[in-house]
Amino acid sequence: PVNLFGELRKNSMGVNFSNDNELRALAEAVNAKSGQWNATPLVPGAQGNGPTVPVTNPADRRDNVGSYVSADAALVDKALANGVAAQSNWDRLPAASRAAILEHAADQLEARRAEFIALCVREAGKSLPDAIAEIREAADFLRYYATMARRLFGHPEQLPGPTGESNQLFLNGRGVFVCISPWNFPLAIFLGQVSAALAAGNSVIAKPAEQTSLIGYAAVKLLHEAGVPADVLQYLPGDGAVVGAALTKDPRVAGVAFTGSTETAWAINRALAARNAPIAALIAETGGQNAMIADSSALPEQIVKDVIASAFQSAGQRCSAARVLFVQEDIADKVIGMLAGAMAELKVGDPGQLSTDVGPVIDEDALKILNDHAARMDKEAKKIAEAKLEPAATGNGTFFAPRAYEIPSLDVLKREVFGPVLHVIRWKGSDLPKVIDAINGTGYGLTLGVHSRIDDTVEYIRSHARVGNCYVNRNQIGAVVGVQPFGGESLSGTGPKAGGPHYLLRFAGERTLTINT
Ligand code: GLU
Repeated sequence: PVNLFGELRKNSMGVNFSNDNELRALAEAVNAKSGQWNATPLVPGAQGNGPTVPVTNPADRRDNVGSYVSADAALVDKALANGVAAQSNWDRLPAASRAAILEHAADQLEARRAEFIALCVREAGKSLPDAIAEIREAADFLRYYATMARRLFGHPEQLPGPTGESNQLFLNGRGVFVCISPWNFPLAIFLGQVSAALAAGNSVIAKPAEQTSLIGYAAVKLLHEAGVPADVLQYLPGDGAVVGAALTKDPRVAGVAFTGSTETAWAINRALAARNAPIAALIAETGGQNAMIADSSALPEQIVKDVIASAFQSAGQRCSAARVLFVQEDIADKVIGMLAGAMAELKVGDPGQLSTDVGPVIDEDALKILNDHAARMDKEAKKIAEAKLEPAATGNGTFFAPRAYEIPSLDVLKREVFGPVLHVIRWKGSDLPKVIDAINGTGYGLTLGVHSRIDDTVEYIRSHARVGNCYVNRNQIGAVVGVQPFGGESLSGTGPKAGGPHYLLRFAGERTLTINT
């Protein structure tokens, strides 16, 4: 197998839990409640007059994390002008120089890990293990796209031709790329999109999710300090309906990388298509209605452990998360009983404590959607379990107790519910094709978990399920960069997969040079 990180590079190591000094530094940084972060748009030559927005901690709304200044229309215009002017010099740099800057940023990110982890816990409500994983994944993206830039952009591909003719294929940046990133992976997906666009020779305008603007700011500063010029990477925080909409309707935008809801991806696609402008590239990674299928040959303990992680880790706020467990009838009672038992053990509370399993959801809007869904399920479905909230989760944070419900079919679920709610459906031995049809029938195609030790079953599912990431006999979250390229199909996204060997190509243009020698 090819090691896509090069000979020496491995995936980022994370934190050594057996090293007291590392753990202590981390705990101190995270629990230093006095830390304040402030962000302003980063657009050379312009200030802007947008409103200042306070940022509070999802686990405790009394904890003021800082504030950011929103971008306004004048800043969007100036940022685009800067980005257009700066792009070709950046594109003409050797790919190895761009790669070295990204690798330097990865090293700096790891060196300053405690500060970034603290920010992820306080602004995004990430649990400590999730925050640690977030920094690792972000460092992985930086190094992976650096390696791929060297490999793909480092020299032109020599092509065959008749005697007396040389043919070469060059890759180049497309122009100004807009990266619109989500709050659920505010550092990893943010830096993944941005570093890919930069590695391929584009200038970038980064628009973070409103909820995690401070993390986006820190990430952009990190890249500037590592050597990305200020006009090549600009930062425009603010409301998607204002900043995102102004960017995507502008004819100067050559491409958009977006992660978020399917509805927003449609809106971006429509805005780009409505311009009388060069046809833009759109890379959209959107939602899912992800299932796990378990048959009676699977180990119940393993099913429960993996479905708990897949449905509830990160408070279910992953697009990869399991929303529906299809469990074969013969083992259903046993698995459902064990699931209820395991849910009673979940610690739902302060995300800054290492023992916490589930932290808060991102904000009041998310909590309302979850509460409304739970109220509907309480009436229409059979409740299997509801986890307890720790005292820390009953005060001033946006906490939602993980729940599981038994439902008769997927028709009960109208759309993706982005949080810690698992639905369980029993299936009969002969019904596997119907189960797969139902899953394909949702129109989404992101992740699928399978628990079975029957090779024919696994092969049937693999060859019939239209999903981007299929995981067998394990959980279905936490795709590793360069190991499990991540992304779905149909309503779940356009591809190419993030952290995969083809991702950079979508950020690039291609030019063929033919010389009669
Ligand atoms: N890549 C993440 C995972 O495998 C999910 C990304 C997302 O939620 O957008 O869990």
